[in-house]
Amino acid sequence: MVELLYRDDPYLKACEATVVAARDGAVALDRTVFYAMGGGQPGDSGSLTLEDGRSLRVVDTRRDSASDEVLHLLAPEQVPPATGARLRAEIDWTRRHRHMRLHTALHLLCAVVRAPVTGGRIAEDKAHLDFDIEMEMLVKAKIESGVNALVDAGHRTRTVWVSDAELDARPDLVKTMSVAPPRGEGRVRLLEIPGVDLQACGGTHVADTREIGALVVARIRSEGRRNRRVTLSIAQ
Ligand SMILES: [Zn+2]
Repeated sequence: MVELLYRDDPYLKACEATVVAARDGAVALDRTVFYAMGGGQPGDSGSLTLEDGRSLRVVDTRRDSASDEVLHLLAPEQVPPATGARLRAEIDWTRRHRHMRLHTALHLLCAVVRAPVTGGRIAEDKAHLDFDIEMEMLVKAKIESGVNALVDAGHRTRTVWVSDAELDARPDLVKTMSVAPPRGEGRVRLLEIPGVDLQACGGTHVADTREIGALVVARIRSEGRRNRRVTLSIAQ
């Protein structure tokens, strides 16, 4: 079982690791700081540096559900390392930190817009949630001041683990209807922003909401009959 170091410390930028498999331009490690795409958050990019100094470019990270491995996808034409090779895995921190800021911003958006969430997605420069709500209920200025007040309040975030059984007993903890919480280990990870938001989430978040920075509601638009999409971006 691969050790997912970002779950306990999302601020870890690099780690030493050993190659457990390498095939089809993808490398699996025994431990990693790379976040695999999931829950609307993109996979990390970065580099794998071998002991001989050779550096391999990682363009994306995916979870292989069949083998339960985290696959570090190499840029084309790169020769994968041998199984057993030791290396240093390092993520593109600026990109990941923007994902963490915008991901945490979506939790704040959940607290401001009180409606069922039907989907969501995070990119480097913007993030959105889809709500099942009437258009008239979504007022740009009100949402913007709401999320920025929560940013400025400096709320701390924390990770809480519950058993699968506890989660089944608390369906309110699953906010995003289209994204099943990561199960299979007998326990599920929750992200808590005390007094603001609590929900099942496997992504990476900032420790303090002030780290997000000022937010802008970039767009509110209708996406089909039920979905109203609210898109946030970071002001600067
Ligand atoms: Zn989250």
